Amino acid sequence: MSERFCYRCGISESEGGPLIDGLCQVCFRKENPVLVMEDEINTELCQNCGSYKKKGVWVDPQNYELDQLIFEVAENALLENITLDERVREIRIVSREELNEIEELPVGVAYLSYEPVNWHIDYFPAIVIYEIEIKARIHELQRELHYEKKTVTVYVRQTVCPRCQKFLGGYFEAILQVRAEDRELTKEERDEIVKLVQEKVDEIMRRDRMGFIQDTVELEEGIDFYMGSTRSARKLAQAIRDRYGGTISEAYELVGLDRQTSKEVYRTSVSVRLPKFRKGDIVSDKNGNIYRVEEVNGKGMNLTNLSTHESEHKDWKTIKRERVELVEHERKEAMLTSLTPKEAQFMDMESYETFEIERPEIDLKEGEIYRLVKIKGKYYIESKKE
Ligand SMILES: [Zn+2]
Ligand SMILES: [Zn+2]
Repeated sequence: MSERFCYRCGISESEGGPLIDGLCQVCFRKENPVLVMEDEINTELCQNCGSYKKKGVWVDPQNYELDQLIFEVAENALLENITLDERVREIRIVSREELNEIEELPVGVAYLSYEPVNWHIDYFPAIVIYEIEIKARIHELQRELHYEKKTVTVYVRQTVCPRCQKFLGGYFEAILQVRAEDRELTKEERDEIVKLVQEKVDEIMRRDRMGFIQDTVELEEGIDFYMGSTRSARKLAQAIRDRYGGTISEAYELVGLDRQTSKEVYRTSVSVRLPKFRKGDIVSDKNGNIYRVEEVNGKGMNLTNLSTHESEHKDWKTIKRERVELVEHERKEAMLTSLTPKEAQFMDMESYETFEIERPEIDLKEGEIYRLVKIKGKYYIESKKE
């Protein structure tokens, strides 16, 4: 059998072989580089929110500190743009130390490491220069692994992401209206709701980038939140109802036509209406029981029965079924002047008039001042005056 020679450099197979596709070992590696990516990569980040595109989708960054953010964006672009010979089917990103120790690899496997070696990040476009090293095997007859190095420059430019374009342009998709039934929202409720909404929006925005609050408008009867997405408005309405109870309703308003698709564009109003009841209210049910409201929440109300002074929890269904309603009453402070097994005598602290009530089954002490409520001529002890 006659000796074969490398067609590129002329070395004999016995010296430089085995030949692969007519090439000696060295020429095969030179003619078949594995790292085939560009020397320059261009990428961008949103100057308003720091987000950048990951696999074509805008995502929020892990780092908000500008230096770290630039490296995060540059590194993402670098990794997304790594292009290898198609015979590499598996790639592992490793540290430089790990790469140095690699001496053997199966066919189709590459190990790659990268390090930033120089950068200018004081102004835009920011520039980060990476050095990439790779080891790979693409042919079973290879005696030595491919070992290549390349310098890649990543340019990070500023832009405004589509979300921020909309946000900065005043865009909103839905209005979340927070109201209370038959009354205005209290200052305390307003503060709590604004806080709850802000916390919840931070959570929602992790999944729904359009879930931003465009604007918050305080009205006499309640608060309007102008929201970037209807989904976000609905989630917030639910969170508010879970905390306070109440009802949610939706309405749609035609606001125009989309210029590109000529489809009708609707705006959604999501309304959450808090219950009319508040802590400290006096209510009665259809059986004439009188209660003081101790707590109002998403599940129902905690009440104190003012005849027995026992606590009760009623869920919203029961409250509706038992027709629990606010009841007109007069509040009084009175001193307990005498106590018999059946009756308690009080003196009104304003008019000094005395009156008797049936002795309730709670501890009472002569000489103490109590808060009472008077409903349809009947007195109930609410609590001792602190
Ligand atoms: Zn050769
Ligand atoms: Zn943005």
